[in-house]
Amino acid sequence: KRRIQPSADELLAGILAHDKTALSRAITLIESTNPDHLTKANTVIQGCLPHANRSVRIGITGVPGVGKSTFIEAFGSYLTQLGKKVAVLAVDPSSSISHGSILGDKTRMEELVKDENAFIRPSASGDSLGGVARKTRESIILCEAAGFDTIIIETVGVGQSETAVHSMVDFFLLLKIAGAGDELQGIKRGIMEMADAVVINKADGDNVAKAKLAKTEFNRALHLFPAKSSGWTPKVTTCSAFEKTGIDAIWELISDYLTLVQSNQYFDQRRQEQNQYWLMETINEQLMQRFYHHPEIAPLLEQNKKAVQNHELSPFAAASIVLKKYFKED
Ligand code: GDP
Repeated sequence: KRRIQPSADELLAGILAHDKTALSRAITLIESTNPDHLTKANTVIQGCLPHANRSVRIGITGVPGVGKSTFIEAFGSYLTQLGKKVAVLAVDPSSSISHGSILGDKTRMEELVKDENAFIRPSASGDSLGGVARKTRESIILCEAAGFDTIIIETVGVGQSETAVHSMVDFFLLLKIAGAGDELQGIKRGIMEMADAVVINKADGDNVAKAKLAKTEFNRALHLFPAKSSGWTPKVTTCSAFEKTGIDAIWELISDYLTLVQSNQYFDQRRQEQNQYWLMETINEQLMQRFYHHPEIAPLLEQNKKAVQNHELSPFAAASIVLKKYFKED
């Protein structure tokens, strides 16, 4: 049986009426590869824009097993109890391969899933991080228009996905556990520079003392970094997502951060920068998509790859042939 698809106007009306089903359906359009769906999605996004931007966007990263889902469950529930409306999105470029290593299994956030003031959406899939991240970036706009005032973006602590998430949030939280031995790795990979807070999770039972020690160490490490342009000094704190302790202090420090960056204009300035960044990212991503998936380009590129391999053409000559074909300059 064919289901009648709601029009863009119907979806938009639903979203603005804070209907989660309409929100879900519109996000599905954003995630679609069907060009008609994308046109429709763009209409919905355009209609949502005047109603977006009124939220705080929080990025959460950490290696698998650190407790991200448990933390988001505890933190998200804490926020809805404060009367906030919380949307949880994810950026996981590996999800198309592994069928969702994060947020794929919704039962990991049992409480939050049932919470009427929460909305949880697993990561979009796709063959490029850029594509996956763009879809999440656009979904944020829809969530905000649907009345969600706190947007949490989860990502795995691997690869470039952290940079992508950092460029779509106001506050970036790095989740850690004590004694994992990867403290220096975080520093090397530049994650520490992005973090506005380092939260040491699993500070419960026998772990409490170790977590406190780790807190001191992280504090020391953070002092080695140059001051942030936000004027904010990154904070280190401990919590137990499991026992739901230390959660309130995390919200408190995020609130302090927001007070600071709203008074010194950094909040708006950064969102402007992020908009410019996503403008360029989207152009780059769509150009690549169109180019590499073009029916004439794909075989021509293969042919020219072979020519380079066989030393018949230089890489530059081969690239020029393919590009000229695409831009119809031949
Ligand atoms: P993720 O892979 O980062 O999303 O981590 P999960 O939230 O799935 O947690 C991984 C494991 O750590 C699970 O077995 C959780 O029950 C456990 N865990 C998460 N948070 C805590 C915590 O605060 N204390 C303790 N003791 N265990 C935790």
